[in-house]
Amino acid sequence: MDKKQTFSLWYVFGALFLITLLQDFIGTRHTLTLTYSEFKQAVAGGQLQDLVIADGLATGTLAAEGLERVLPKEQVDRLKASSGEHRFATVLIDDPGLVPALDAAKVRYGSVRESKWLATLLSWVAPALVFFGIWWLLMKRMGGAGGAGGLMSIGKSKAKVYMQQETGVSFKDVAGIDEAREELMEVVEFLRSPERYKRLGGKIPKGVLIVGAPGTGKTLLAKAVAGEAGVPFLSLSGSEFVEMFVGVGAARVRDLFEQAAAKAPCIVFIDELDALGKARGLGLTGGHEEHEQTLNQLLVEMDGFDTSRRGVIIMAATNRPEILDPALLRPGRFDRHVSIDKPDMKGRRQILDVHVKGVKLASGVDLDSIAARTPGFAGADLANLVNEATLRAAKQGKDAVDMHDFEQALDRIVAGLEKRNRVMNPEERRFVAYHEAGHALVAEHRASADRVAKVSIIPRGIAALGYTQQSPTEDRYLLRRSELLDRLDVLLGGRVAEELVFNDISTGAANDLQRATDMARHMVAQYGMSETLGLATWETQPRSAFLAVPGTPQQRDCSERTAEAIDDEVRRLLEQARSRVTATLNAHRDQLEALAQRLLEKEVVDRRMLDELLAGPAKGQAALRPLSDITAP
Ligand code: ADP
Ligand code: ZN
Repeated sequence: MDKKQTFSLWYVFGALFLITLLQDFIGTRHTLTLTYSEFKQAVAGGQLQDLVIADGLATGTLAAEGLERVLPKEQVDRLKASSGEHRFATVLIDDPGLVPALDAAKVRYGSVRESKWLATLLSWVAPALVFFGIWWLLMKRMGGAGGAGGLMSIGKSKAKVYMQQETGVSFKDVAGIDEAREELMEVVEFLRSPERYKRLGGKIPKGVLIVGAPGTGKTLLAKAVAGEAGVPFLSLSGSEFVEMFVGVGAARVRDLFEQAAAKAPCIVFIDELDALGKARGLGLTGGHEEHEQTLNQLLVEMDGFDTSRRGVIIMAATNRPEILDPALLRPGRFDRHVSIDKPDMKGRRQILDVHVKGVKLASGVDLDSIAARTPGFAGADLANLVNEATLRAAKQGKDAVDMHDFEQALDRIVAGLEKRNRVMNPEERRFVAYHEAGHALVAEHRASADRVAKVSIIPRGIAALGYTQQSPTEDRYLLRRSELLDRLDVLLGGRVAEELVFNDISTGAANDLQRATDMARHMVAQYGMSETLGLATWETQPRSAFLAVPGTPQQRDCSERTAEAIDDEVRRLLEQARSRVTATLNAHRDQLEALAQRLLEKEVVDRRMLDELLAGPAKGQAALRPLSDITAP
């Protein structure tokens, strides 16, 4: 829409330019400019037919014949060259003899009151327009997305509200979020027949807040609600309310609600509510007047909105509910909360099903195994995975997408693009190889650790120099102490291998150590897993996500002495793990060497090769999860 406006403005500029040109053109093309003396000669010679005097300028027509007698030759030629009447113009000088001479020559002469509208237009309106235009363009620049509506529409959110009469999305397009669907069914029922609901006196939620990590399908779900109810879907992003001018955001909110009322029944969806609904007086923009006004306006509009009468449901999405202003969450505002978690294995399978619907799959494609290999993937990641695999297959001219395409796509998405062009020096490669072999071997020699699926020393992404992938057999919600200890061991495996082999250590283990320390600290301070400190917990997590104040570090409500004891205990856990790992790796030093050598040779060691190398029994089923990356400093 702003594109069109830009165009029309350029039209205006263009037209003005043309008018100016034309003026010049008409003014000069057919008119001969005479000097005053030439003019006087023409008068005296009887060559003048008529004359109009205006504002010190005389214009008129010359007779066709006999001009040669009174005018120089080139003037005559020029006059002849122009078709039509022989017009001329001359600038008058103060000459009392002019009128008698004209009378004597019997010339028809007169004067006009000059109409100056065009001159006025050009000299006054045009510059004004130009300045206006420049200003408008500047505003547009500065305002970014916000000012895109142009000057006229500041305060109008019309340019930003995306309206879909039909979203074309239904609940069956949203997989793996059955609970959220249940919750929203009520909203759908209400939108389908608001009158019936009202008659029965049902209490309808006014605002529904969807909470979930990015890509978990919050927008999709809101669209599905609109689609199921068959009502229009108005959406815009919270960040678009935030403007450089005080009061604009508030005006936008007002306008949004006006539009919604006109479209009712409908759904208004505000994405990134946190951008607009940040707690007042918090964070960097704390006390920012514009922001506060916008938020207040939203609260006012929501309070004043009679949902049951109008049939408008406000939905909003955020992935940071903890920073929202508590006022937004009070009854009568966003009082209904629906949270979407990242999908579990079953959910991932269902989401994959949705996305492979239009894709031709080769017979060997095992979606269950892909679902098993993608813990932590959100819906958007899975959609991306399918898309990537399809693109790969298409690029290679295949008829169907096969498992290999999925593997490749998975590799790429899991660990970032392969960076073969990044050259490590041989010594670095050896470090990385032993480091990863250390992780892998410890995992192999721990009963409850996930089975290793793949070890690689191909640098990936920006910082990862190598990685070991483990295959969890299932999603875990509960971990036993022994399992946590095993994980601790696996995390330390890389570092301990470096120590043993090189008698030296590298910076590559920083991330491993960080994770190991976090895990140990959680065991001590949260899970009550330390003998010396007992069952008490010390690190209080925010009681409710909504009550937490962002930016404040986790409060540790314990004495200095306890804090010290926790630190000691964490250190002790890590030291114990280290000696366990050292023992394991020493006992299987031959395997460590073999695996590291194989890695240096092949860069990647998969499950089959690992089995060959270790000649050990296989445990569990294969699936991938990035366990550890050795990171660049
Ligand atoms: P969010 O708003 O939570 O960031 P979106 O709703 O924009 O996420 O999701 C992005 C895309 O990911 C969707 O268009 C859809 O293709 C896919 N997607 C996400 N969650 C699901 C799901 N549960 N079922 C099917 N597809 C999903
Ligand atoms: Zn590591």
